[in-house]
Amino acid sequence: MASSMSINVLFSFIVLFSASCAVSYTIQDQFYQCITLHSDRSIPFSTAFFTPTSNATSFDSVLNSTALNLRCLEPPRQKPLLIFTALIESDVQAAVMCAKELKIQLRVRSGGHDYEGISFTSALGRSVPFILLDFAKLRAIKVDIEDNSAWVQAGATIGEVFYRISEKSKIHGYPAGLCTSLGIGGHITGGAYGPMMRKYGLGADNVVDARIVDASGRVLDRALMGEDLFWAIRGGGGGSFGIILAWKLRLVPVPSTVTVFTVPKTLETGATKLLNKWQHVAHKIDEDLFIRVVITTVNSTEGKKTVQTAYQALFLGRTDRLLEVMNHSFPELGLTRKDCVEMSWIQSVIYIAGFPSNTKPEFLLRGKSLFPAVYFKAKSDFLYVPVPETGLVGMWKKFLQEDSPIMIWNPYGGMMGKISESSIPFPHRKGVICMIQYLTPWTEGDMKTADKHISWIREFYEYMGTFASKFPREAYVNYRDLDLGMNKNANPTFLEASVWGKKYFKNNYDRLVVVKCKVDPDNFFWHEQSLPILPFKFGQDGKSLIH
Ligand SMILES: Cc1cc2nc3c(=O)[nH]c(=O)nc-3n(C[C@H](O)[C@H](O)[C@H](O)COP(=O)(O)OP(=O)(O)OC[C@H]3O[C@@H](n4cnc5c(N)ncnc54)[C@H](O)[C@@H]3O)c2cc1C
Repeated sequence: MASSMSINVLFSFIVLFSASCAVSYTIQDQFYQCITLHSDRSIPFSTAFFTPTSNATSFDSVLNSTALNLRCLEPPRQKPLLIFTALIESDVQAAVMCAKELKIQLRVRSGGHDYEGISFTSALGRSVPFILLDFAKLRAIKVDIEDNSAWVQAGATIGEVFYRISEKSKIHGYPAGLCTSLGIGGHITGGAYGPMMRKYGLGADNVVDARIVDASGRVLDRALMGEDLFWAIRGGGGGSFGIILAWKLRLVPVPSTVTVFTVPKTLETGATKLLNKWQHVAHKIDEDLFIRVVITTVNSTEGKKTVQTAYQALFLGRTDRLLEVMNHSFPELGLTRKDCVEMSWIQSVIYIAGFPSNTKPEFLLRGKSLFPAVYFKAKSDFLYVPVPETGLVGMWKKFLQEDSPIMIWNPYGGMMGKISESSIPFPHRKGVICMIQYLTPWTEGDMKTADKHISWIREFYEYMGTFASKFPREAYVNYRDLDLGMNKNANPTFLEASVWGKKYFKNNYDRLVVVKCKVDPDNFFWHEQSLPILPFKFGQDGKSLIH
């Protein structure tokens, strides 16, 4: 890269830095100059670099562009000193080398959906300034139907991926999330579950290759990075091992016609008994069927606030067979032909994401979220044992105390139970009935309001502790939750980080730490919940230890 650097750039760099004896340059200036030195091309500052001082309006609009959780844009959160929007892959290499050279933290954002916003702001305080590397412009997708695969750059949303696959074939799909604006870059680093998980597993279970930039600035594919690192990046959490440039996805077969339905039940129409039954059947039912339960509060017909449980499903087949499956395994829901809608797989993506039924698939190319940018706090749990009816009744009581709470119960079983816990770092497999997501959104930015809602969700989580998994109380790393603990500096101990590491990764935590030590021994890639390094290094053979 540096070989193509022009004499002019070199000259201006020398002039600038020889002058630095007299004048001190900001870290932003130094980073820009360094990128210019390392880059293959000349990059006008205004097109790819944004700082709060030089171009505040553009800085805010770029920072906020994909930031979904407004809570993470408020003080005491720290914003980046500079945002660098990479345009070509070698920009990413240059960013790593320059951040290293300047000893400044580098954060990476693909889709910006991190629940704690740590891809674009920091909870570590002023003492850890950082630069944000944004992938918004690295979003190319190349689908190869013959090879059953697609190479996707990290900045693409999953909606774009789904669209590009369906553009080439109506009988291919990819098993990833339900919200179409998720960035494929961060999404797969934590697992990536969606409505085809019971049939095909997670997005991360269906990755066959990847290209990453490591802590030395090298680009590595699967063959070059080796199987340990390839294992770690598929579920070991974002921002610990390197920067994903692109994933190679394995496509899966989907029928040309699938069926969807949504059946709501309130407390007044038997929600408690039905959810009790669902816990006994949804993880055992036909693998082609995924029925999640979206739980909210609504006004009942009498105008009283009540709980609504909406049974929302994707069936990889037609209505006739779906009705047979339901009548056999879950007749209590009372599903009728009228509730069922047949459509193509890509239309089902739009349906499940919650877009209006007349939304054209092309809309997915806009990468827009249906979920509005709001303030929110979320948590997750895994159930291995059903919550008894008495527990559900107590749960409703607490649920109704909050303004606009949301719970989503996602069924496991099927393929999820057949893949071993150590196949990739995502460990929540055999025996899981469902994962529960708790979320509370609000719209005012003041601390008092935030405290009120955060206190509610913490209490609710405490109540659910009686029923959730134990030792560890498991959590989904893609539903990042800093309440579980966080690194206060770049040197957390194995034990300190294991507090949340074991919840996210169970026994895979130990192997993840070993991989981390081997591939990033100086802990260049670190953040509030990155994996720690051990107080010794591995020798060149990757096995012997150097203290
Ligand atoms: C509305 C909403 C709906 C969701 N629905 C689902 C769902 O259906 N299924 C599911 O599994 N999850 C879901 N999630 C969670 C989602 O998978 C995670 O938040 C995921 O990390 C988002 O990836 P991103 O690229 O959009 O986020 P980002 O905020 O960009 O990144 C998330 C993390 O990954 C790191 N990262 C980002 N890009 C890279 C990269 N190129 N290389 C290395 N590290 C990187 C970041 O530093 C950060 O730590 C949902 C989240 C939201 C907000």
